[in-house]
Amino acid sequence: MVNGDYNIIWKETMNQIREELGEQEFAMWFNLEYLDASEDELTIGVPSTFYQDQVRQRYQPYIESKIRELIGKNLTISFIVQARPTEENPTRKPGEEKLTAAPAAKPAPSPVTATKKRHPQLRDDYTFDTYVVGDDNNFAFNAASAVARNPGTSNNYNPLLIYGGVGLGKTHLMQAIGHYIHDNFDNKVLYITAEGFMNEFLKLLGEKNMSAFKNKYRYVDALLIDDIHNLEKGDRTQEELFYTFDALYNAKKQMVFTCDRPISELKNMTARLKSRFEWGLSVDLKPPNYETRFAILKKKLETKNVTIPDEVIELVSKNVSSNVRDLEGALNKLTAYTELVKKPITLEIAQQQLKDVFASPKQSNLSIEIIQREVADHYLLSLTDLKGKKRTQSIVFPRQLAMYITRVLTEYSTIEIGQSFGGRDHSTVLHAYDKIEGMIRADPKVDSEIQNIMRTIKTHGAKS
Ligand code: ADP
Ligand code: MG
Repeated sequence: MVNGDYNIIWKETMNQIREELGEQEFAMWFNLEYLDASEDELTIGVPSTFYQDQVRQRYQPYIESKIRELIGKNLTISFIVQARPTEENPTRKPGEEKLTAAPAAKPAPSPVTATKKRHPQLRDDYTFDTYVVGDDNNFAFNAASAVARNPGTSNNYNPLLIYGGVGLGKTHLMQAIGHYIHDNFDNKVLYITAEGFMNEFLKLLGEKNMSAFKNKYRYVDALLIDDIHNLEKGDRTQEELFYTFDALYNAKKQMVFTCDRPISELKNMTARLKSRFEWGLSVDLKPPNYETRFAILKKKLETKNVTIPDEVIELVSKNVSSNVRDLEGALNKLTAYTELVKKPITLEIAQQQLKDVFASPKQSNLSIEIIQREVADHYLLSLTDLKGKKRTQSIVFPRQLAMYITRVLTEYSTIEIGQSFGGRDHSTVLHAYDKIEGMIRADPKVDSEIQNIMRTIKTHGAKS
């Protein structure tokens, strides 16, 4: 067979898979590019290592079996990660491959954007184009883009739940979906915060005008509700959301929710509503890694009229690791400075301007290990015992305290904290947190002892 034949085989295989899996799943996972072939192997390009792992795990045998059905012969697939240059960054320095990797499944620019009115509730700048994709948010981005391109078409993606800590891009991604659906389809998109949803519900309920509420929320094509953890208090609102959910779900309308923690960690939410949030696809956003942080700063700079040297961007990327909002905050400080003082930013100036930002505990790259070591030292325990299985009181208390402090001082999720403490469940971490908090409230002596330990950790953590 000549190479062109393999290309045709690949295309046909993709066509069949698209039909079998549906547009949404296909859009998400088959951002694959035929590159080359030998007698018994096809070489296929994937946009990132993460994507490669996922496709291998989920689909490789499936794709290979499809090819076998088609041509009656075994072909193995081998993947190659290709960081595709973006339009703005056609060339990159060595070692920067990942920084500007194009979004894996970037939606095509909309042909109708120019003529369409902007959406009243969505921020203009929260689009897919301005969202930087790295290895850490690739999955969430792909899911969002698949949903945006094929809203409501598959129950596997309805609802889409995006969860993760503050400032990690949940609202941005959610609004990007909203923009895309609004611009590309003749669809009604409604974006609202959970708080707004609750206020409106209570207002119309008070006015005995529930039909207005139903008309508004049950006849949309896409409903985006931001920060659903804020619904925890409103029982009646939860009930109403439950009915709204079922109405939209049955009508095959797309829903997207965001939450600041895994659904299982929501305490005051009815079980039936919680389970619905997880009916479709849940994706979590993690704090961005160094490469992504660097790329985000670069991207944000494009829209501002200032130049900041790369070494300064490196400094900020290294020192601000908590979340994207803080990263932007640091950048804004620097750009405000140049605008005021009309001097270019140097490394020294940046260090000077940002010293408070860098010193704050959530910025200092405080690792779980530093906390564990400090707590273990304080109570004269070994690290192994602190993380281990022993349940004597002299060990259990320091262990719970270390979990508590980690939750207070870092952005790690309870799942991650549990894993770092000998693979414990996230509910164990929550239990530890509640218990220590109770003790602090009940006993000022415990409170001041813990404050002392935390202070030591902060100073040591900041130095390391
Ligand atoms: P969240 O809703 O999770 O608290 P936001 O969506 O409000 O976070 O994001 C905080 C800020 O960080 C916003 O200005 C957003 O544009 C920016 N941001 C977050 N993630 C990214 C990203 N991957 N690329 C570009 N900007 C991002
Ligand atoms: Mg938000």
